[in-house]
Amino acid sequence: MSFFDVLKDFDGFDFKAFFEKVSDVDILYALNKPCLDDLDLLSLLSDKAAPHLEDMAQKSHELTLRNFGRVIYLYAPLYLGNFCDNECLYCGFKHGNAIERKKLSLPEVEKEARAIVATGIRHILILTGESRSKTPVSYLKDCVLLLKKIFSSISIEVYPLEAEEYKELIEAGVDGLTLYQETYDRDLYRHLHPCGPKSDFAYRLDAPDRACRMKMRSLSIGALLGLADFRKEAFFLGLHAVYLERRYPDVELSVSLPRFQRTVSDFLPAFSVGDADLVQIMTALRLFLPRAGINISTRESRALRSDLVGLGVTRMSAGSKTEVGGYCLDEKTQGQFEVADKSGVGEVKKMICDKGYQPVLKDWQTL
Ligand code: SF4
Repeated sequence: MSFFDVLKDFDGFDFKAFFEKVSDVDILYALNKPCLDDLDLLSLLSDKAAPHLEDMAQKSHELTLRNFGRVIYLYAPLYLGNFCDNECLYCGFKHGNAIERKKLSLPEVEKEARAIVATGIRHILILTGESRSKTPVSYLKDCVLLLKKIFSSISIEVYPLEAEEYKELIEAGVDGLTLYQETYDRDLYRHLHPCGPKSDFAYRLDAPDRACRMKMRSLSIGALLGLADFRKEAFFLGLHAVYLERRYPDVELSVSLPRFQRTVSDFLPAFSVGDADLVQIMTALRLFLPRAGINISTRESRALRSDLVGLGVTRMSAGSKTEVGGYCLDEKTQGQFEVADKSGVGEVKKMICDKGYQPVLKDWQTL
């Protein structure tokens, strides 16, 4: 049974009726259970759970301390290129946008990498737009072979690959995959991804499975919050994570909670997700997934990221640039989205220490 089948089981499920029926008793029951089921998660994501946020936060804090201790893993993104064959309506990199396009040469990759490693960061997430022709797997592999001499852990956030391609990159030195489904709503997905390879919902949904089958060490999944009703998106994200946890228990799993940020495209998200909503999503997912990492990027402000330390977050990007060439090259492109937390790595480390936590710059060594 694939996760697509799990999703299909909820076709016709009346979310509106469920949310109307949820009571304080259901929420308190979920809050006090040692192990939540699917509908407990949905209760905690309902608007009726908002008055219980304080209790959810307390339990989320306790579970995070028990399972992760007082540490926050730090990483930085490195954009290798912004060529893209897709037309995702919400993205500044979409094919039809008349923006400057660039792909780093290997010497440029090394320059950017040296600038990042000088900040102390040892975990790198490499990203591209989704263009197999401009940034083929052979190029990604060359970059990985170079970067593994500089970083202790390399994750990829690129177009979905075939299983054998994941294997090739794992053998080259990749140990982590980040892949967001963007939305679990199939009709909305079709609308937001009208053409290009990304329009294949099922192929993207199955990509984490393909990577895990090839023994990817760590995996981060997510939905772009704001595209659809966040309560449903967070629910399906939680179910997707549990499905992957059960199927691949040796994979280090985390969920990411990216909120839509302004891009050069004029897209406006249909749903707003406030700070309190984000806290509700994070704490509900922590209660549902006590052992999964939770990732908050620099899409969020410095103040909010500081508040989230201790509530459930276990991983953060730091000192991020979303431009191709953004760390040190004279020639750089526009960023994929606006970074809200522009703090340098040193400031992020200090913020984490000030909260009584330990920033972890290296917790893995591939070679
Ligand atoms: S979200 Fe990814 S695939 Fe879609 S246009 Fe942007 S870079 Fe391309």
